[in-house]
Amino acid sequence: NRQIVLASRPQGEAGVDNFRLVETALPGPDELADGQVLVRHHFLSLDPYMRGRMNDSRSYAQPQPLDEVMIGGTAGEVIASRNPHFAVGDAVVGMGGWQEHALVDATQRGVLQKVDTRQVPLSAYLGAVGMPGVTAWYGLVKIIDPQPGQTITVSAASGAVGSAVGQLAKARGCRVVGLAGGAEKCAHVVDELGFDACIDYRRHPDLKSMSAALKAACPAGIDGHFENVGGLILDAVMLRANAFSRVAMCGMIAGYDGQPLPMANPALILVNRMKIEGFIVSEHMAVWPEALRELGAGVATGTLKYRESIAQGLEHAPEAFIGLLKGRNFGKQLVKLV
Ligand code: NDP
Repeated sequence: NRQIVLASRPQGEAGVDNFRLVETALPGPDELADGQVLVRHHFLSLDPYMRGRMNDSRSYAQPQPLDEVMIGGTAGEVIASRNPHFAVGDAVVGMGGWQEHALVDATQRGVLQKVDTRQVPLSAYLGAVGMPGVTAWYGLVKIIDPQPGQTITVSAASGAVGSAVGQLAKARGCRVVGLAGGAEKCAHVVDELGFDACIDYRRHPDLKSMSAALKAACPAGIDGHFENVGGLILDAVMLRANAFSRVAMCGMIAGYDGQPLPMANPALILVNRMKIEGFIVSEHMAVWPEALRELGAGVATGTLKYRESIAQGLEHAPEAFIGLLKGRNFGKQLVKLV
């Protein structure tokens, strides 16, 4: 069973050298203990939060221990089971980590979830119909609370979370403007995902230019903003924010390698009477069923679109992960193992 462990903690920028590939023995099917399930992973999910876990600093989550299998969401199939709730061949998602197989004690409810792959592909349970989708849903519905006719902006708009935010907001009758890196991503966001506009933030490297681009794309101002990046984008949005606008603070990926992200003008929170609220999706389990119903129906019927970047083979997980932090992914970043 090949695994990737965290070999060292990054000093500043994370790199592939912070990871190490190791090989361990797998138990045979008759060596499982009561309640255990052996899962063969088909897909690993790579997510920005993993960068935070690589540091040994105080955060909302425990640091990833050194020399242990990298944490992460996984989707696969049961290949051996001593648990009455799981049979060989079941499609499952869990937190199996960066390895080809996982031996899971599935006695506790929720550790391993069976999923139905007849209408929703297995990989989508790690993206649009999984944690990133629910993240989009929570921040949009519960924090931004979009009303028909309002203007909603979202950064990292072509990504796993951002792409769902915009489509869910369109479905609620909003004008939706994305921000993404590069012409190709922006074209996808408008032409394939149906956003009203998308700003290539790389063409607007200063506040004046970014603010002007937002003004042009959001003639009635901004009522809600879903923040995935932080820094200049957030500063520019605040300059165009309407009175009583809401910001869902979901991620600040521009600062994950330690870059400082000062807020240029916090007085605008007061001037615009803004609500700015951070959230961690795993702390809102109560909304997951409702969110997953909408997201699952959207994917099954084709109204919720998503795109994937798939790296092939466990050994490529580290470089795919570093690529995700640098925007080299285009949609949900996965690693395909089978
Ligand atoms: P994405 O699929 O959006 O991939 C990350 C994207 O971030 C890249 O494709 C890139 O897009 C963009 N990016 C990276 N670096 C920068 C930068 N310096 N400036 C601007 N954009 C950058 O990832 P996810 O959808 O999985 O995650 C999106 C955000 O949501 C992250 O911030 C993540 O931490 C957060 N999140 C928060 C959760 C919560 O519970 N609060 C749960 C899940 C995710 P581009 O090329 O367009 O720049």
